[in-house]
Amino acid sequence: MDPAGSMSVFGLRRGKLVVLSPHLDDAALSLGGTLLTLSRSHPIVVWNVFSRSRASRYRTLRGGRIVEPWRRMEETVASLLLGVSVRFLGFPEAMLRGHRDPRRDAVNATDLQVLQQVRHRLSSLLTGEGVGVLLVPLGVGSHVDHVLVREAAKGLLSQDGGRSPAVVMYEDLPYVEGTDSFEWLATVGGSCEAMYVDISPAMVRKLLVLRIYRTQVGPNTIRRVQKHATKCWMEKHPDSGRRGYCERLWLPTGPRGAGSSSAPPPFHPLPTATFPPSSARQLEGSGISPRVVTVEGPR
Ligand SMILES: [Zn+2]
Repeated sequence: MDPAGSMSVFGLRRGKLVVLSPHLDDAALSLGGTLLTLSRSHPIVVWNVFSRSRASRYRTLRGGRIVEPWRRMEETVASLLLGVSVRFLGFPEAMLRGHRDPRRDAVNATDLQVLQQVRHRLSSLLTGEGVGVLLVPLGVGSHVDHVLVREAAKGLLSQDGGRSPAVVMYEDLPYVEGTDSFEWLATVGGSCEAMYVDISPAMVRKLLVLRIYRTQVGPNTIRRVQKHATKCWMEKHPDSGRRGYCERLWLPTGPRGAGSSSAPPPFHPLPTATFPPSSARQLEGSGISPRVVTVEGPR
């Protein structure tokens, strides 16, 4: 698939492509090949939502103060190589909000408060940013932060009276490897169409970029990313007889089951969640102060 063709499928004729990335490595893990392919011709910005972190795959680093600046450095270097800009929105990740197992814990009252704050932040960022396409995580794997980002996007896109950017869902790697995306698509609440981006020419560079994330990404994760990309290639090109790699995206196409009044469309319209003044006051007093740091990538 040629990049220009991909972008026309996205509907991106103007404006930026914005990736909502729950954590400091998700955009590269899930979309690294797509970003490498498209960043030469289009402005791309990654918005890291839960960029406050103490998480590391190394036990000795875990919980330490050095983890967050280290992770931001990893993300900054990776973004330069991917050719994208990055914003750190400064929300605390699940472990900093008291979760012990963010992939199994239920969404709690604090999470719902954070959801409102994230939605408010994203809403103000979307205003006037000229966003043409918004890439949203599908929430595969049930990590509470990934689910909150997906739900925040759904909420804010229902509020703007049809001026929303085009929405494309992406699969959360490595969680999607070995799972069925269709069951996760059901949680989106509508029908989606698969779109395969051929990342074969960019795969080596994607894997090199992933190795920058030393605090998070180990050999097993790299293997899972490769395995899923191979599977997606085979799905798209079953008879090609050659090896290749794809990233699979999902385009919301409308209500599940055309003509069914009971089936909600994927994003529009969802129940509108306004942001009441009382919640704004809660945000001020919550100790959570979303801040934005912008690192401009090469153009
Ligand atoms: Zn994540």
